[in-house]
Amino acid sequence: MRIGIFPGTFDPVTEGHLDIIRRSRRILDRVIIAVARGHHKDTLFTVEERVAMVETCAESIDGVEVLGFDGLLIDLARKRGASAIIRGLRFVSDFDYEFQLALMNRRLDPEVESLFFMPSAKYSYLNSSVIKEVMRLGGDVSGLVPPSVLARMEGKFRS
Ligand code: ADP
Repeated sequence: MRIGIFPGTFDPVTEGHLDIIRRSRRILDRVIIAVARGHHKDTLFTVEERVAMVETCAESIDGVEVLGFDGLLIDLARKRGASAIIRGLRFVSDFDYEFQLALMNRRLDPEVESLFFMPSAKYSYLNSSVIKEVMRLGGDVSGLVPPSVLARMEGKFRS
């Protein structure tokens, strides 16, 4: 059984993330979505809210499990028997950071490979920060995040 871990902040999950999850499931039997508590980032949603949102959005994709995590990703990968770390690559600008991360993870555990997926071109300019900024300013982001996420964001920005 080939298990992959897709780590990220998912603040909030977007159609770009879901595109990567679907693509990764074509070659992996199970995908664990690891939602980082995110000490290094100020998040709009708590980790519990982010996990719940990903769960709702990924409900229709089988072979997917969602959990919150804190700590070293490679420890979680080992604990869960994962042989791959899944990441998305949008532009060349993602590359430097992803390259560093992948080589560090390889150093920590050479048995775990990093796998990169390119999203559909229509999602390649998306990131969670841009979505939040546009929404904060009253712009329309429908179609870029699932309807359940849109509703949660509307609630957040109203309060
Ligand atoms: P992180 O804090 O780890 O960057 P993100 O939730 O922003 O968390 O991203 C998690 C992963 O999803 C990263 O590999 C990122 O490149 C990828 N990703 C984010 N948005 C998209 C998108 N629109 N298309 C493809 N991959 C994406």
